[in-house]
Amino acid sequence: MSTTPLRDTPLEARADGAQPCATGHDRLRGVGPEDVRRRNRSSVIGLLYPDHSLSRADVAKHTGLSKSSASDVITSLLDDGLIREEGMRAPSGPGRPAIMLHLVPDARQIIALDISHTSHLEGIVTNLTGRILARDEVPVDGGRPLDIEPIVSLCLRLRDRLTAPALGVGVATPGTVDGRGVVVKAANLGWRDVDLASLLSERVGLPVRVDNNANVSALAELQYGAGQRNMIFVQIARGLGAGMIIDNRIVTGTYFSAGEIGHVAVDDTGPICGCGKRGCLETLTSLPVLRKQLAADPSHRDRILTQAGSILGQMLSMPIAMAGVADIVISGDPELIDDTFLAAVSYAVSTRIDADFLGKVVVRRPQLDHDMALLGESASVLRATLL
Ligand SMILES: [Zn+2]
Repeated sequence: MSTTPLRDTPLEARADGAQPCATGHDRLRGVGPEDVRRRNRSSVIGLLYPDHSLSRADVAKHTGLSKSSASDVITSLLDDGLIREEGMRAPSGPGRPAIMLHLVPDARQIIALDISHTSHLEGIVTNLTGRILARDEVPVDGGRPLDIEPIVSLCLRLRDRLTAPALGVGVATPGTVDGRGVVVKAANLGWRDVDLASLLSERVGLPVRVDNNANVSALAELQYGAGQRNMIFVQIARGLGAGMIIDNRIVTGTYFSAGEIGHVAVDDTGPICGCGKRGCLETLTSLPVLRKQLAADPSHRDRILTQAGSILGQMLSMPIAMAGVADIVISGDPELIDDTFLAAVSYAVSTRIDADFLGKVVVRRPQLDHDMALLGESASVLRATLL
């Protein structure tokens, strides 16, 4: 599992070398000294993440902090055990050798849960670089609405297995999640306006964040797989959802519903969808639809998969061109989302966009093949708290 540096753009360096402080614009946005402190800590951790070693002078240079400000931040991170000093680097000229700084990946741990399966809930404990340290699951009966008690129980069991202070809990869920951890709507769970972050946080005594599962799967591919800084990640399962990464960040949209492309009507003559519209994308390309079509006509497997992949490719061409994205990742049961399907997506895209302008667009499977939502949720907690 590779690990991508989280922050490749250090804080803007100031010509006078002074510590970045709350600007007038920051103050208007309610950014105070504590936010600046957090931002500076994040920028230092981001430079060292996951396994870079830098001297104090390197840190000051790359963050734009003055040497004394960088030293203050480094001292506080050393005190918190988040970074450590190890090894020396010989000076290039006269002077003393420099002590090197490193991240301590095991200084904090993260609990990540995935509540999107119908038969069970999954959870893991990871360190700061996504290494899985513990794993557990609890069965659920599939009844809807989903009861919160099994989620609490799984979280408490994983909390008991922590061997370092917890950074927090992250929950990957289907449906739409607002910026405060309220599941606004999750048809698959039978939930509407469930304040999962508050409910769970009260019960387990840890900060909780909640994210859409397709979004954090995209984040996992970015963080631990082969994802590019601009990427569209399509998850084909019971339904069809997507996550978009632009400039290394998940796009959530005005109503936190970016990527909910399954119920966009794309065929006026298509089948009636469960949502009431006709020809929604997921009535043409979801796994249950493909399985049904293949069962009814097994001799035309290639034609069925090519047709479905082609429709998806047609639909993706516009966001690809709109955002200039060249990395298209399609996740789903490899028995169905196979080479034939991916080739059809790729052909449909390549024959629609102008490669002279947009360059080569790659359509591929995710590099990670399991635990995507869990690892992505771990990365999401890390980004929200330390980075
Ligand atoms: Zn629909």
